[in-house]
Amino acid sequence: MALIFRFFFGGQAQNYLFLWGMGGTFRHLCRRKHPQTLKCSHVHARMSEGEHERVYAFQTEGVRVPKRRCTRSWQKGFTLLRSGIEVENLCQTHIFSGKRRTFVAVKRNHRYMAGIYVHIPFCRSRCAYCDFFSTTREGELPHYVEILCREMKERRDEFADTRVRTIYIGGGTPSLLSATQLQRILDCISANYAVEEEAEVTVEMNPDDRFLPHVNRISLGIQTFDDDLLRLIRRRHDSQTAVCAVKRLQEAGIRNISIDLIYGLPGQTMAQWEHDLDTAFSLGIQHLSAYALSYETGTLLTRWRDEGRVAETDEEISVAMYQRLCQRAREAGFEHYELSNFALPGFHSRHNSSYWTGEPYLGFGPGAHSYDGQRTRRVNEADLDAYFNNPLKGSFERLSTTELYDEAVMCGLRTRRGIDIKQLAVRFGDTQRAYLLHMAEPHLRTGRLVLTDNRLRLTEQAIMISDDIMSDLMA
Ligand code: SF4
Repeated sequence: MALIFRFFFGGQAQNYLFLWGMGGTFRHLCRRKHPQTLKCSHVHARMSEGEHERVYAFQTEGVRVPKRRCTRSWQKGFTLLRSGIEVENLCQTHIFSGKRRTFVAVKRNHRYMAGIYVHIPFCRSRCAYCDFFSTTREGELPHYVEILCREMKERRDEFADTRVRTIYIGGGTPSLLSATQLQRILDCISANYAVEEEAEVTVEMNPDDRFLPHVNRISLGIQTFDDDLLRLIRRRHDSQTAVCAVKRLQEAGIRNISIDLIYGLPGQTMAQWEHDLDTAFSLGIQHLSAYALSYETGTLLTRWRDEGRVAETDEEISVAMYQRLCQRAREAGFEHYELSNFALPGFHSRHNSSYWTGEPYLGFGPGAHSYDGQRTRRVNEADLDAYFNNPLKGSFERLSTTELYDEAVMCGLRTRRGIDIKQLAVRFGDTQRAYLLHMAEPHLRTGRLVLTDNRLRLTEQAIMISDDIMSDLMA
């Protein structure tokens, strides 16, 4: 029985690769239409299937592919993984070296999807706890938007023939943009990248700023509904303004609203936190991100702590606050889909989820990060003047296999879906899979981890010690 496997490379018809013939012959038709027959001793069953890809295993025996046959479509679009080593260039002679070998092929179900992050590094004032890159030079926003558009245009080849399924405008304070400026940014993205019609478009907003049209998701930086604590951490809004902002968004037709809260603020009591949760879950929001306060180097809050003006919250109180948060979210019907993120069914942040599953993304603006979905990270310099001088300047980091493995473990354990053991073996090999299961064993015995449906997950009791467990499992 003949089987046809079709491999899409960038969705281009001329880039198709066909394999056929179970236990017989398989052929490929490359972009230059050079048919090449190879022996294929066996095509194994499909190994796994995710949202974006299917994984097959097959064995070849012996026909060497002449170097001239290797086209860019082989080299670029087709990822072949062998013994955990990602082979990026199929011209390597050991791939078709004459011996019978088993390979694993990844078939993309769609053109590769991606996210775009746009950084708006302007704030009216600086909050006491924040170490994000931003400036109060708000007057330079119009010029900034033009430079930003230049960067987006010049880098468009990085995501050529790739569908963009999420756009995230973050900061800083994106809600300082005018509606026209935001429209200009979105138009520039649409003109240079293939944005899906149903793309998730998120804008971060502060409660005291105006609402921006043209988006379908808002992330509102509320942090707490306690006015004394808001003043202490130097937020500009008060609790009433925050509540009104949510209502205004709802009246404007936004059906996907996320709010940010912080717990463990200096002097914050359980009663205050309970009040924050009461208010949050009474507002009809769809998504909640809640973070424990951290004292970052160089912030005002850290200086106050070092001077003895504020005290860090006891760890037991922070743990109790987190546990109460999980409980309240569950009671309100929210899914705890990532350590710090909760959402009603169907309202997980698609953009942030793509970071945890290792999808490629492009980041624009000073300090923004990009990732090609393979091994390369790019970081733009976090300096506004340097960015104005040359918006295309960035530094690149090539991730080692160990770093990729560690990241896969860390990101997988952060999410409710957990680590996909089969996929991990495909990417990093059976030895690494065995290592992971060996290191997980003590935690499986004590119930901190569970292994079901080939996925390794943290149990709720282990969330508070997730850092320790992650570091145990890392290479
Ligand atoms: S928390 Fe947000 S608004 Fe406050 S300084 Fe940081 S980026 Fe700006």
